[in-house]
Amino acid sequence: MVLDRKARIQRTRQGPVSTVRGKGKAEALRPASGSPPPTHDPLRANDPVIYDLVEKEGRRQQDTLQLIAAENRCSPAVLAALGSVVQDKTTEGFVGQRYHGGCEVVDRIETLAVERAKQTFRAQYANVQPHCGTTANHIVFNAVLHPGDRILSLGLDQGGHVSHGAQVSATHAVYDIAQYGVNRQTFLLDYEAIEAQAVKCQPQLIICGATAYSRTLDFARFRRIAERVDAYLLADISHIAGLVIAGLHPSPINEAHFTTTSTYKSGGPRGGLILMGRDHNRPIRAGKTHRPLWDHLNKTTFPGVQGTPQLNNIAAKAVFFLETLTAAYKSRQLAIRENAGALAGCLIDRGFEVLTGGTDNHMILLDVTQFSPGLTGVVAQRCLEACGIIVNMNRLPYDRKGQSVTSGIRLGTPIVTHSGMQMAHMAEIADLLHSVLTQVKPVSDTSFHLDDRFIQTTRDAVCGLCRRFPIV
Ligand SMILES: *Cc1c(COP(=O)(O)O)cnc(C)c1O
Repeated sequence: MVLDRKARIQRTRQGPVSTVRGKGKAEALRPASGSPPPTHDPLRANDPVIYDLVEKEGRRQQDTLQLIAAENRCSPAVLAALGSVVQDKTTEGFVGQRYHGGCEVVDRIETLAVERAKQTFRAQYANVQPHCGTTANHIVFNAVLHPGDRILSLGLDQGGHVSHGAQVSATHAVYDIAQYGVNRQTFLLDYEAIEAQAVKCQPQLIICGATAYSRTLDFARFRRIAERVDAYLLADISHIAGLVIAGLHPSPINEAHFTTTSTYKSGGPRGGLILMGRDHNRPIRAGKTHRPLWDHLNKTTFPGVQGTPQLNNIAAKAVFFLETLTAAYKSRQLAIRENAGALAGCLIDRGFEVLTGGTDNHMILLDVTQFSPGLTGVVAQRCLEACGIIVNMNRLPYDRKGQSVTSGIRLGTPIVTHSGMQMAHMAEIADLLHSVLTQVKPVSDTSFHLDDRFIQTTRDAVCGLCRRFPIV
């Protein structure tokens, strides 16, 4: 989000604050905080078209309700590091083993990023070079597996991530994939069933971690399963890393051999991260010799999977990890989880089917087909978007609808919480969702009718709510 924040705040102040009927006056007038906006004059001068689109994206983010569980908002300081001259430095390899000159400054940046990542996750090893969460996973696969080796992971249609072995992924093309699911009745992981499957299929790597699962993961149990079949364990905590940092979800760092995460879902820059705890020094065979796992992982990062690190992105990660060490970051994680619990409760009160009856994290999965006849995930996503409410359709476990239709939507509270919304505002959000999904008339699995005046009134109400919480 690279918008001229000052312009956005001014717009908010002049704008429809007065249209908020009766409530939220104090919120509406809350002073903007944060560092001064980065100037975008060179962008405006050189490329007015992109400048205008960047502005428009900023306005979209301010004036619509962001409920995508995989999104968050980074700080102006993180944005400043991303847009800095560090972007222009090229090198290869890790600190102390660079292949280009002139690295004395970026070496300090990467060292700080690593030290802060280790501190925030209480890890023994951190690798801040992965370009994204998917690549972080591929680096681990490349480190411990040979082509054709077997991975046991949560299926895509059960809440797993594409990179864990979905048919369409490179993981599936290179490795032999076996997948576990959730219990058909409870939609919860069934550890006994996973253990039985592991014993039967003898994987070399087990992956735990999900992209659509709203309950706590038992990493210690996964480790016992991995030990029993002599497999490595990878915990992918992309969605829940913020909760892990804040101590609001058990940490996998000393349970899994490897922990991976994307860094944007927890409020940092886009990018990936690999961490290790007590297993970081464990030897692994590399050709004719053995190396410690951490050293092996560096070598399989570069030149194994990636080329040059994005050093501006690594600087931004360092800034973000410093933020995660603050009490403010930790209390925000608690608020995210409390808001998700409150929103789930409000939705259940209004007749929605929430999978597993609630949530332990920042995410809520709704079965919209149970709410009204003919409603599908894609219709819900599109009619909500028409009204300014941004969610994503999501396949649910054992979903009878295809992946471009789906029975569900997934909601998340990181951005609304970051904006300053509290538990009381979750009722307003639930009312908006209820009102739109009651009003919409599905015509087919993918099309619907919704009254134009209703759309306009709801858009105005959504915009009014969002502008009480200006992006700063
Ligand atoms: C989002 C996500 C990823 C992918 O991260 P990218 O940085 O988008 O590649 C990987 N694993 C899980 C579980 C995720 O939720």
